[in-house]
Amino acid sequence: MAFQQTYFDFKNRTEDINASISSIIDSNKASASRAVYLMDPNLAEQIVKGLSLFEYFSYVALVDDRGETMFEIVREELRYINPVLSLVAPNYTEYSVDVGEGNFSGKLILQANNHVALKEVYQRAIRTFSISLLGYMLLSLALVLLYHNSLAVPLTRLAKRLQRVNTSSITEQSIAHIKGHESNEFSLIVDSANDLLNRIASGQLLLTQRSQRFRLILDTAPLLIFAIDNDGLFAFANKSTAAFYGYSIFDLKGKNAEKVIKKIDADLNQKILLFMNSEQRQLDLTCPMINASQQTTIHEVSLVKFHTFDGQSLLAVCNDVTKRIEAEAQIEALAYKDPLTNLPNRNRLFDILKEAKPIQDTDKYDVAILADLDQFKRINDTLSHSVGDILIVELCDELVNQFSSTGVVGRLGADEFLYFRENLSNDFEVAKIMATEIAEKIRLCINKDIKLSMHSYSLSASIGVVVFRRGEHSADLILQYADTAMYESKKRGRNCVTMFKDEMAMQAAKLLELERDITKAMQDDEFCFVLQPIYDSTSSEIVSAEALIRWQKGDETISPDSFIPFLEESSLIIEVGDIMLDKVCAFLAKVQSAGLLKDDFRIAVNISGKQFSDERFLERVIGTLRKHQVAGHHLEMEITESVALENLAETIDKIHELKKLKISFSLDDFGTGYSSLSHLKDLPVDKLKIDRSFINDISIDKQDENLVRSIIQLSNNLGLTTVAEGVETQQQLNWLCSTGHMLIQGYLFSRPLSPDVFYSQFFSDE
Ligand code: C2E
Ligand code: CA
Ligand code: CA
Repeated sequence: MAFQQTYFDFKNRTEDINASISSIIDSNKASASRAVYLMDPNLAEQIVKGLSLFEYFSYVALVDDRGETMFEIVREELRYINPVLSLVAPNYTEYSVDVGEGNFSGKLILQANNHVALKEVYQRAIRTFSISLLGYMLLSLALVLLYHNSLAVPLTRLAKRLQRVNTSSITEQSIAHIKGHESNEFSLIVDSANDLLNRIASGQLLLTQRSQRFRLILDTAPLLIFAIDNDGLFAFANKSTAAFYGYSIFDLKGKNAEKVIKKIDADLNQKILLFMNSEQRQLDLTCPMINASQQTTIHEVSLVKFHTFDGQSLLAVCNDVTKRIEAEAQIEALAYKDPLTNLPNRNRLFDILKEAKPIQDTDKYDVAILADLDQFKRINDTLSHSVGDILIVELCDELVNQFSSTGVVGRLGADEFLYFRENLSNDFEVAKIMATEIAEKIRLCINKDIKLSMHSYSLSASIGVVVFRRGEHSADLILQYADTAMYESKKRGRNCVTMFKDEMAMQAAKLLELERDITKAMQDDEFCFVLQPIYDSTSSEIVSAEALIRWQKGDETISPDSFIPFLEESSLIIEVGDIMLDKVCAFLAKVQSAGLLKDDFRIAVNISGKQFSDERFLERVIGTLRKHQVAGHHLEMEITESVALENLAETIDKIHELKKLKISFSLDDFGTGYSSLSHLKDLPVDKLKIDRSFINDISIDKQDENLVRSIIQLSNNLGLTTVAEGVETQQQLNWLCSTGHMLIQGYLFSRPLSPDVFYSQFFSDE
């Protein structure tokens, strides 16, 4: 405004001055022209002086036609240059006006000081600006006051209220509205701040809940979890850790970790220190840890370094794995130790024998000695399994005492033990001699009487010995060889030692082949039987026959001695026995259907142990008799002493069941076993067959004669019929007949005959 006003004022004044100068010039022009024309200096002076009276002319001059100044006036006081005002307007304006007439023309020269001419304008401008400035100052003051009251004061109050907010508190807090500002932008700010506070409060609440939950998890975890800060102090420890070190959580926090741990577990402390000083970021280890009660437990410890704002800290997580390790040890023990004797078991022994390595000429020979207790099943059956177990434990103690310092004593199975000893000698023959000596010692050790309460028991074992070099054979093969040698000992009459020979391996291979052959023989129906008649010694009449198995392999007829023991070892004997029973019944049925079967004629069938003790034996016998419609009294079963006494009570029950079918029984090979007489009398058998080995010797050996005599006596006393088998000579027959009535079987009367020959010989129509 002030500028605009001043500008217009300036403009108007300038125009005024120009107009007034024009009119001054106009009014003096005539007289100036005259003065020039007349060359009148006085007039010129008069005119110039007159003009110089005007307040703003700083120079006035009248110049004649020759250009000479007729008169001039210079007002020095107006001839200055104002550099500031010259920015507004030029300091001077010069006017040069032509005056005179024709050849007598000159010039009137005027110089106006613009600033003097504009003096009033300037004064008015100063006034206007001053007033404006004052106005502005007043306005500013008013604005400052307004700002102070309506902004600064409430803002300061708001700031103070915000400062008073407790940031560590999680309860909801709010800021009061500022008085007088309840509905303006301040109230908006307060509302927003309160909203923010609310959100902070709920955020903090959530955080607290989360941290409580986290704490709860850590405290209920069975792990020891703790952190050690840069200064070596417990920065954090969960409940388990605190309890482990005998503190409360509160007390443990901030304690010097090294002191706490070192005091009771210097070892762990050392491990932590080593780790902290290492380059490793993380370390997992399994180590024992000692707690405040001095109990040691095994922990899986995980140590992790982590950075906090003030340096490096350590987090430790320790998991107590004592139980797991114990369980693993137990599992390991179960897997590798025999639970009864605590000796290495089959698995462990296998591992020991397995340790394969390339053989070198300098390698010494090792030995594996397998001892299988003789007839231990009988001890179990007659004396109970618990007594059997005690005997085993006692025996093992003795074996360990005597032999474990030089080798490994282990239990392979129920009544099978293995002794393994390394580096006997690098001479095979020497090693074999040494091995046999050791095996003999083991045999004698097993023979030693074992005293249990009032009784004393003596055991024996069949022993197989294998001498070998490490890596020469697989563990499987070593055990197979030991087994083969051990069976050889069984065959040789038990309680003896047999050194394994390569031929035995061949024999074992043969057995394998035999098994294949037998399976095939059964499929191809190659098993058949022959019948050997049995005669009454008094009447010389045939009373019965014994069915004897034969293997008809093409043209070759194979005797049972070469395959029955094998069949008996495997379970094939059950099936083959069934085949025999079926064939014999079929033969009886054939005779019966021809109407030639006498009521008192019977055929004796040999029944082996496995077959007899098979739980479905009775069922199958009934089935076979029924199938062929043959009555039980035509059938006799021959069982050996060992079969009969194996499980006496069960045998007696079974015989009774079969006797209900009228099947009769004879005790085969009598005299070769160890049957105690007390048991014999309990056996419901009908006949007693004296083994042919005794009959063979009666005419040669007086002792055998006496033995046979007492067997006959015993048989008579028990009310049994005596059968003498293997009678080959008249002499033997005479001697037997002299002892009394009995039945006779032997080559003297007849060799075993094929069923067809037997049929035509004894059942022909004539
Ligand atoms: P064993 O039960 O003692 O059978 C009698 C054996 O003596 C038969 O031999 C028979 O041929 C033979 N023998 C009979 N009289 C004389 C004689 O005067 N002198 C001589 N030296 N021997 C005579 P075999 O047939 O070789 O049978 C041998 C053994 O095989 C039998 O002995 C028996 O234990 C077993 N066996 C035979 N057949 C069967 C069968 O079907 N099942 C079962 N489990 N075993 C059988
Ligand atoms: Ca027999
Ligand atoms: Ca016999």
